[in-house]
Amino acid sequence: MLFAGMGPEGQQRLLAASAVLVGCGAIGAAVANLLVRAGVGRLRILDRDFVEPSNLQRQILFDEADAREALPKAVAAERKLRALNSEIAIEGVVADLNPGNIGELLSGFPLILDGTDNFETRFLMNDFAVQSGIPWIYAAAVASYGLSFVVRPGKTACLACLLESEGALGLEETCDTVGVLGPIVNLVASLEAGEALKLLSATESNLHGRLISCDVWSGHFQSVQPERNPKCRACGRREFSYLEGQAEPHITMCGRDSVQIHERGRTLDLPALEQRLSSTIPGVRQNGFLLRFRIAPYEMTVFCDGRAILKGTKDPAVARSLYAKYIGA
Ligand SMILES: [Zn+2]
Repeated sequence: MLFAGMGPEGQQRLLAASAVLVGCGAIGAAVANLLVRAGVGRLRILDRDFVEPSNLQRQILFDEADAREALPKAVAAERKLRALNSEIAIEGVVADLNPGNIGELLSGFPLILDGTDNFETRFLMNDFAVQSGIPWIYAAAVASYGLSFVVRPGKTACLACLLESEGALGLEETCDTVGVLGPIVNLVASLEAGEALKLLSATESNLHGRLISCDVWSGHFQSVQPERNPKCRACGRREFSYLEGQAEPHITMCGRDSVQIHERGRTLDLPALEQRLSSTIPGVRQNGFLLRFRIAPYEMTVFCDGRAILKGTKDPAVARSLYAKYIGA
């Protein structure tokens, strides 16, 4: 309240504001931490993954107990954030954002925050935001480098302007091939949260409108004002191909040496599945949110909605075959 840019009125507006965060890994967890402590009144957090020990080097909301229990990140984040600020509404949702559920999961929020780790989901968010006229904040980091930019439909460039045009600005590598440092993640999350506070406290005139990129290893910082592309597929021609969903593959690669199987519209009884699998497989575990077992050299994690992540292969056929054998076709 003492900060002139915010003031008591700005703080009141933050308390009345809401936002939805897509993805709660490294950047997402850091953004959520900042916004919840700042007193943003309502935050919905979507994430499809669970906590693993290798996340702890950079994902500041999680600890060793979360990794031991293999808690879904949305569940672990909700618990931590409630302990940080009990006066606001926090809702963790374990879900994989896709064209079929994006309307239901993102509607009603005046701001969408990027905490994802992949461009398929970012383009989906961009198409939804541009079509609905809702601002969203792009943020990404890999290795020691990262960037952030606020997309305001009709006013600024959108993600498709940036990445589908000549001389596109983007990230080629992924964290799964070259890793990512904790400091760049937190720096990019701070850039994202700073702009979010302006949008949510209704002081939009203070938005800097720039794409800021930085590298904590080389010390190289850059700030540019991207131009809109008048022929842009999304904000120019209004062709929202990512929302149409026919491009959604049944099986996608997610992360290093793993395959995700999408199974929508089915609900698994995890305790019953645990009982059934335990008769043939030792060490089957479930925690009410997900069930996990090992068939060496693979490890399968199955969520309540039927979605599964198979580690130890990049071959969708192997994943499909093990899924059919143990979970059911
Ligand atoms: Zn555009």
